[in-house]
Amino acid sequence: MLLPLQVDILYGPVNSRRLGKSLGINLMPGAYKLCSFNCVYCHYGWTKRHTFDASPFAEDLPPLQQVVKRIEIAARSALDFHYLTFSGNGEPTLYPQFAELVDEVVRIRNTYRPEVKIALLSNSTGLMRAEVRESISKIDFPLFKLDAGTEETFRAINRPAKGVSLAEVVAQLSSLRDINIQTMLVDGSPSNIKEGELEAYFQLLARIQPKEVHIYSIDRPVPHAQLLLVPPQKLEDIAQRGEKETGVRIKAFYARR
Ligand code: SF4
Repeated sequence: MLLPLQVDILYGPVNSRRLGKSLGINLMPGAYKLCSFNCVYCHYGWTKRHTFDASPFAEDLPPLQQVVKRIEIAARSALDFHYLTFSGNGEPTLYPQFAELVDEVVRIRNTYRPEVKIALLSNSTGLMRAEVRESISKIDFPLFKLDAGTEETFRAINRPAKGVSLAEVVAQLSSLRDINIQTMLVDGSPSNIKEGELEAYFQLLARIQPKEVHIYSIDRPVPHAQLLLVPPQKLEDIAQRGEKETGVRIKAFYARR
């Protein structure tokens, strides 16, 4: 079974393998996934609302003041969490007032929870907007998706809405410092671990020079039946090889049994 959508603005805290206790912030509608990608492995399933422009869906998005109020109430409560994380039913940076909201979340965190960090899980496409790009340095842990080394695999795995190429995404990622990359590795059809594909991916990492890369594979049901899991040992081998070829720290994440 695919994961149910987050119906509310806040969800969790969830126990994240990478962030610890993370209070999720969902800026997308509660009734459907709104995303600029339609990834073959998305645990929320396929979406028909597949766009880089969220304005036609504005009525379904939570108003800024309501989001701010909910985060402030949580920050002032006794709720235990280590991260406030922009994530949820789709791509958070599609939210039209994303940059303004980042400023508000920083203010709330500094006032009530100075020990809490702010994270962003993004598919990288929001970086085409200047105001989103400028807000990234205010986020403690920005984690951007890069799942392919070639345009063909980018289109096959991420199925982007019209108008964005892998080349543009990589150009934007390369212009930022102190970012982290996350990569879903999959085998089967499509695959991003075949020879040639991995080399092209490592070349992009070497160009972007992120602080750290997290690689992982599918660990729950996915909408596209032809995908295969990349086993833990293979993930470790790819991480080791990638570190040698790129000089970038690469960590493999998988369920330890
Ligand atoms: S970017 Fe994230 S939310 Fe959007 S389709 Fe891909 S996995 Fe799903």
